[in-house]
Amino acid sequence: MTYLKPLDGTKKIQLHDIDPSYHAGLDKEEGEKRSAELLAELAELQELLYAASTHAVLIVLQGIDTAGKDGTIRHVFSSVSPQSCRVASFKVPTPEEAAHDFLWRIHKQTPAKGSMVIFNRSHYEDVLVVRVHKLVPETVWRARYEQINAFEQLLATNGTLILKFLLHISKEEQEQRLREREKDPTKAWKLSVADWKERELWDDYQKAFEDALNHCATPFAPWYVVPSNHKWFRNLAIAEILVETLRPLRQEWLKQLEARGKEELAQIKALRKDKDAS
Ligand code: ADP
Repeated sequence: MTYLKPLDGTKKIQLHDIDPSYHAGLDKEEGEKRSAELLAELAELQELLYAASTHAVLIVLQGIDTAGKDGTIRHVFSSVSPQSCRVASFKVPTPEEAAHDFLWRIHKQTPAKGSMVIFNRSHYEDVLVVRVHKLVPETVWRARYEQINAFEQLLATNGTLILKFLLHISKEEQEQRLREREKDPTKAWKLSVADWKERELWDDYQKAFEDALNHCATPFAPWYVVPSNHKWFRNLAIAEILVETLRPLRQEWLKQLEARGKEELAQIKALRKDKDAS
């Protein structure tokens, strides 16, 4: 069963039509059990991805503050090897980054073949926070949807599998999570007055997310809106999408590795033969 459908640009969506508490009728225990199975499969697929090195995987995580980007990274990628998986976080651009086009710092962090990179925030900030805070004129951020699509197409046609996840929570859930941080000393480091100020711009952010989804969901770089009020469901849905995206390539990768192994073996045998003859 596939829990979430990809947005590929054929149908426009409105975020308020998507229930952030959706959990496909599962309970937490069932969901966590299924997640564990998927994560074991993901670890195996990642090893094949690395060995075959014919594809790269780019995962984009976006969401309002507290939506769970950090938690997703901690849970969904807990089983993959750090040898070929890393996180790239995008913050307020440095002066050097700001002096370049908005994709300059992004392109440098894209995954090489064989590896997986998780973007914790991404080039989408340049049509989200930048739009909401009016950091550039509208003509500038509007042109970026097309620029993003062209950029993602370039990556995709060069062997990068792109999966983009919007972690979708309700405004009430955000308030609860912000208040929990105030009570929990282990989460106190995450407290920020800016989060409460940003919260006042909730509707502007929802609109900006919606436009980004509707302009930049493509067959080669689909967006998924992930109901994220239940953290266990969020983890399950993302794990499932990752596995279902990589699984169809398993045979191709195995074939390639087998052929490579045979070739090497033939060379080893030839070397031995030469040695024995001399
Ligand atoms: P996070 O919230 O991701 O854990 P921070 O608290 O350091 O990490 O927040 C990073 C900040 O950088 C966010 O407020 C985000 O909107 C901002 N940011 C990221 N990219 C850009 C950008 N291109 N322009 C302006 N601000 C950006």
